[in-house]
Amino acid sequence: MTIAIVAHDGKKPEMVGFIKDHLDLLKSQKITLVATGTTGTHVQNAGLEVTRMESGPYGGDAQIASRLVEGEINMVIFFRDPLGKHPHEVDVNMLMRLCDVHNVPLATNLAAATLFFDSLKDAAG
Ligand code: PGA
Repeated sequence: MTIAIVAHDGKKPEMVGFIKDHLDLLKSQKITLVATGTTGTHVQNAGLEVTRMESGPYGGDAQIASRLVEGEINMVIFFRDPLGKHPHEVDVNMLMRLCDVHNVPLATNLAAATLFFDSLKDAAG
């Protein structure tokens, strides 16, 4: 399973906390990670392997969307900052729309991300 992780700047500390809380699950052989550029650096610093795309404003969300359309992404965890302004808002909307078009589970906040990962843990037994 390949999981894409993206976090807006205002949500990066929350994303790092989430990653650290789920290190065992994320280190399992069955999970491959993809992330936008700066998010990916944080994920690497937490000790995980991750494929880093461009930074979000430079097209990273669009790259993830493209992979998703190709069937290569099975879940998207997007720590969105609803209070921030984002120069790449159109890319963000595109990624979320394509999750719906292709029926790929999308979590856009910590509570939903936690539920997703709880269900992955249950599935892993
Ligand atoms: P970043 O991009 O991980 O490079 O900060 C995330 C985003 O803003 O979409």
